[in-house]
Amino acid sequence: MRKIYLDNAATTYVAAEALQAMMPYFTTEFGNPASIHAFGRESEHAVAKARSQVASCIGADANEIYFTSGATEANNWALLGVVKNSPSKRVLISSIEHPSVIEMGNYLDSLGYKVEKIAVDKEGVISVSDLIAKLSKPAALVSVMVANNEVGTVQYMNTIASLCKKRGALFHTDASQAIGSVFIDVREMEIDFLSMSGHKIYGPKGIGALYIRNGLKIGKHLHGGGQENGKRGGTLNVPGIVGFGAAVEISMRDSTINNNRIKILRDYMIREIEGKIPNVVLNGHRTQRLAGNVNFSFKGCEGEALLASLDLVGIAVSTGSACNSATLQRSHVLTAMGVADDLNQSSIRFSLGRSTTKEDIDYTVTELVKIVKRLRSISCIAKK
Ligand code: PMP
Repeated sequence: MRKIYLDNAATTYVAAEALQAMMPYFTTEFGNPASIHAFGRESEHAVAKARSQVASCIGADANEIYFTSGATEANNWALLGVVKNSPSKRVLISSIEHPSVIEMGNYLDSLGYKVEKIAVDKEGVISVSDLIAKLSKPAALVSVMVANNEVGTVQYMNTIASLCKKRGALFHTDASQAIGSVFIDVREMEIDFLSMSGHKIYGPKGIGALYIRNGLKIGKHLHGGGQENGKRGGTLNVPGIVGFGAAVEISMRDSTINNNRIKILRDYMIREIEGKIPNVVLNGHRTQRLAGNVNFSFKGCEGEALLASLDLVGIAVSTGSACNSATLQRSHVLTAMGVADDLNQSSIRFSLGRSTTKEDIDYTVTELVKIVKRLRSISCIAKK
């Protein structure tokens, strides 16, 4: 059976060049970068190179990059670390953030902070008027992701960041889905904190980074050795860091060619689905969206059933709504965008990547046409 991977927003394979760069750091170059002997120095040198690679993709300085275990940790650190040092107890987050921001927001709420959600429009774009209204009172931090992982909507970063600057709020952004796809310059865009993840950009899992603008105060994150400028203790994951650095560099080097090709496939897939399947709704913004994101609601079909049926014919996709035994959970992203419950529960995300071909899309659409027809013929929601 064919195996087609259309879930690149969930994770990607490790690029061969990144894997190759990592290999020696598992075996011959195994020193602890904190050690001052030659073994340690060799690892430290590799970490320094990766730090520069990561910094340069967002226009930061190397000493502004702090390695973490991924974007979840970076997001947690940014939110908690900032509020601990701020006189203001208010934090503003967008209503479509990843759970690593939303759940941290809930935790902060439980600690007595005041976390408020910024509204988005029906395409997932931040409501500037709501942000302005919420910024009329002091806030410690605003957190808005560059690009959404479910619907792919890309935000207008400059506008959001400059509003935060004008009102004296620090600005954090989760760029996990955007690196290599959306141009980011932390200086030009006045970004104070930025989270990244290795495994979304053909690097290894379990590694990421938080960019912290020089001069900003943020609470110590992991108490231990003096690693990461004394802010995050713990022996560094040298192979992961090296692979992450290499993956970032490759993503930047090949970004134009990869994104142009993937964007053409994305638009082709959108046209094919809209042309061949009736009663579908594209979720997210039609143009202001990630190159690899296609998210549709298929009226009358349950997302989980679609996912399982596609899996049976070898196609891997994702759904924003998750089924647990008793209830169908809706996607909080689609809910925030005002998508009605039935369409919310019938949504599927296809995320295209470097290995996706036109043949993959053709096969997927052909199978989708059959699956949607079958599910609609047996579905009780379709008959309502
Ligand atoms: N933010 C976004 C937007 C993501 O898509 C993800 C991964 N699903 C994360 C944060 C978490 O990243 P990690 O797996 O590196 O912790």
